[in-house]
Amino acid sequence: MCASSSDERHFPNSFPPFSNETAKDFFDLSSLSSASTSAVRLSNGFHDRLVEAFDELFAQWEREIGAQRTDDTSVYTGVGGYAVLYHRAFKVLQKPEFLDKARKIVDSISVGRLQHKDRLTFLCGDGGTVALKAVISHIQKDDRQRDKWIATLLDCKDSVVQSRSLPDELLYGRAGYLFCLQFVRTHCGASSSIDAAIEDVKNRIIESGESANGSFPLSYAWHDKEYLGAAHGWAGILFQLMRTPNFDKDAKSKELVKATLDGLLKLAFRSGNFPSSIGNESDRLGHWCHGAPGFIHTLLQAHKTFGDERYLRAAKRCADVIWDRGLLKKGYGLCHGVAGNAYALVSVWKATGEVAYLYQAFQFAQWMFDYGNHGCPRPDRPLSLFEGLAGTLHFLLDLRTPENAEFPCFY
Ligand SMILES: [Zn+2]
Repeated sequence: MCASSSDERHFPNSFPPFSNETAKDFFDLSSLSSASTSAVRLSNGFHDRLVEAFDELFAQWEREIGAQRTDDTSVYTGVGGYAVLYHRAFKVLQKPEFLDKARKIVDSISVGRLQHKDRLTFLCGDGGTVALKAVISHIQKDDRQRDKWIATLLDCKDSVVQSRSLPDELLYGRAGYLFCLQFVRTHCGASSSIDAAIEDVKNRIIESGESANGSFPLSYAWHDKEYLGAAHGWAGILFQLMRTPNFDKDAKSKELVKATLDGLLKLAFRSGNFPSSIGNESDRLGHWCHGAPGFIHTLLQAHKTFGDERYLRAAKRCADVIWDRGLLKKGYGLCHGVAGNAYALVSVWKATGEVAYLYQAFQFAQWMFDYGNHGCPRPDRPLSLFEGLAGTLHFLLDLRTPENAEFPCFY
């Protein structure tokens, strides 16, 4: 389970607000006059500092993963996440050696016939490994292997749909399997069999939410608790539903998702943050897994899907919470750390074109250049994608071309 129990604590944000004066450290100011996000250019100084920080931390990370022995194959805390970072490094830096390293990692993970009890999700199960095997084979033009792994993934669809015990959330449940299909579709291209499987799983998640008789038209619980955040709750599940390719044509699902989102909006704290679960009145957690930084992605997608400005306003309020208290003492990671929070700010910039949000993310990034020097506790899995350095590296790498930045494994 994603850690959520310690007290909410953050470093004070003493960064100056965005202005032409403060922006010039980070941006080529002449590039900010364009309305297009892809026109925004980093200042030479910030670009160089970003590359230098990445190179140094990446070298450290590679040394440490080389010396490490672990049986954890998951994307969330294990070697599967290293393959995700190498895959991203290959895409951003266009160096084939990184794809070879990703392939070597996924080749070393043996996966048999999958069943739902094996955990089929992308982040915490074998589904992520299988999806990565398919995508890397596809890039290397190994179509036979690609098709074999896609077939392996599709083979367990019935078990995901039919299971009565499987939850719906992202880390261990159906939404996490749905992302495996979406990942393969994004990187290998659509096919009628993938799209049909996506449709079946989406329908099953809708049906499960309708029959739950919980707080909203679609309700989901994990271990008997109705969570709101991206890891275990509505934010993660509804995001994946709205991302399915034919969602726009599914009037019934749209109506249910919208009514559920509207109910969730009413639960926002005065600050703009969201509770971690129904009935929890404490406005403490501001992580991707629990709170505003995960909710933002769902609200921005809702704005895109439904065109309703209330969702965008709620997303901006979440961004204010992150700017205010997003420098987490928990550290630099994605799931409950500063990199995950900064990704949320980048997403608001991408959706609105308001460069102040990207400035905020850059300030957070610059803070992370001093990795390890803020007195944050060492995470349990210090090299991992979701808790450790790999996630921070993914973020720093993405900032070179921020218009293409994407929170990993959640799009
Ligand atoms: Zn977390």
